[in-house]
Amino acid sequence: SGESVVDLLNRLCATVEDYPRPGIMFKDLTPVFADGKGLRIMVDELTAPFEGQFDLVAGVEARGFLLAAAAAYATGTGVITVRKKGKLPRQTLSEDYALEYGHATIEVHEDDVPSEARILLLDDVLATGGTLSAATRLMERSGAHVVGIGVVLELAGLGGRTALEGHDVHSLQRIE
Ligand code: AMP
Repeated sequence: SGESVVDLLNRLCATVEDYPRPGIMFKDLTPVFADGKGLRIMVDELTAPFEGQFDLVAGVEARGFLLAAAAAYATGTGVITVRKKGKLPRQTLSEDYALEYGHATIEVHEDDVPSEARILLLDDVLATGGTLSAATRLMERSGAHVVGIGVVLELAGLGGRTALEGHDVHSLQRIE
C-alpha cells in the first residue's frame, strides 16, 4: 500500500558533497518536505512509536520546526521552539555544545517547558548528536522528560546514538 518511507527518502532526499565544508556529505531533505506524501509519511512515522506518550513536541531550529509543528498539529499537542542563541526575547535557558570546529549555543524560553511535561524531540538529521543532546539537557533542566527523540535520517557512523544514550531514539532511515 504505497511507497515506504525509506523508498521515498531514497527517491527524494538530495545529497550534496562538500557542503557546507569539504568532507561533509550534506543530506538535504527540502524535496521531501516539498512533497505532500513525503511530509505526511515523515510526520506520521516520527510520532507513531510515541503515540499517547507525549504532551508537547520540541523542534530544533530550523528544519526541526517544520517536523515539530506538523507533528504537534497532527497529535493535538503544542510545539516548543529550541532556537539558536539570541533569537528568543524573554528569559531563556541555554546550552553550549561542541561542533566539529568551535561551538554553538541553543536556547529555549524558560516558561515554554512545563516541569514534568513529556516531550517528543524532533530534528531532521542526527549526526554527532551534539545538537540533540544539548536540546535534551535544555528540556531536562526545566524538569521535563524527553520520552522520545525522532529524526528522519541517522548518519550512523558519527556516533549520535551513543551521545544520546539512555534515550529512546527513533530514526526513519540509518545511513552508514
Ligand atoms: P549534530 O549536532 O552533529 O548531530 O548535527 C545535527 C544538526 O546539524 C542537525 O540540526 C542537522 O540538521 C545538521 N547536520 C549535521 N550534519 C548534517 C548532514 N550531513 N546533512 C544535513 N544536516 C546535517
